[in-house]
Amino acid sequence: MEQIVLKVPPGKIFIKDGRCPNNCSLMNKDKLLSGKPVVTTLVRLKGDTGTMHFNAFYGIFEYETDLDPQQGDVVDLYCPHCGTALSVPEKCTMCHVHMFAIHLPDGGEIRACPKVGCRNHQLTIVDLDAQFAEFYNEERRPKM
Ligand SMILES: [Zn+2]
Ligand SMILES: [Zn+2]
Repeated sequence: MEQIVLKVPPGKIFIKDGRCPNNCSLMNKDKLLSGKPVVTTLVRLKGDTGTMHFNAFYGIFEYETDLDPQQGDVVDLYCPHCGTALSVPEKCTMCHVHMFAIHLPDGGEIRACPKVGCRNHQLTIVDLDAQFAEFYNEERRPKM
């Protein structure tokens, strides 16, 4: 499959439906950041377990947690429903720790580094049809 890299300005894509590897929804409407439901995960840090809420706008590095992670700490994230780890085999190219992934319903996913202060992240969109249908229509229109 060919990969196309897109530059996405922070805050332009809202994650409407993030899921764990077992397909549990991580969306939480009881908590709002930027006026929108958050992505909620379980977090483990130095033997403590807590909850972590992420701003669901892609590229906005805002979160709230009942733990107190310091700059440089690496958090472990889990699904709050089934307890599955969200980490993936791929490592952050900057910190060499395992990234974590949030799955999107169309087969895409968001990967990010769990080290506090690292902003390495990426968005993979698998189903481009919906996103680019309009663009193609425009291209095919006969020139006047
Ligand atoms: Zn789950
Ligand atoms: Zn990193």
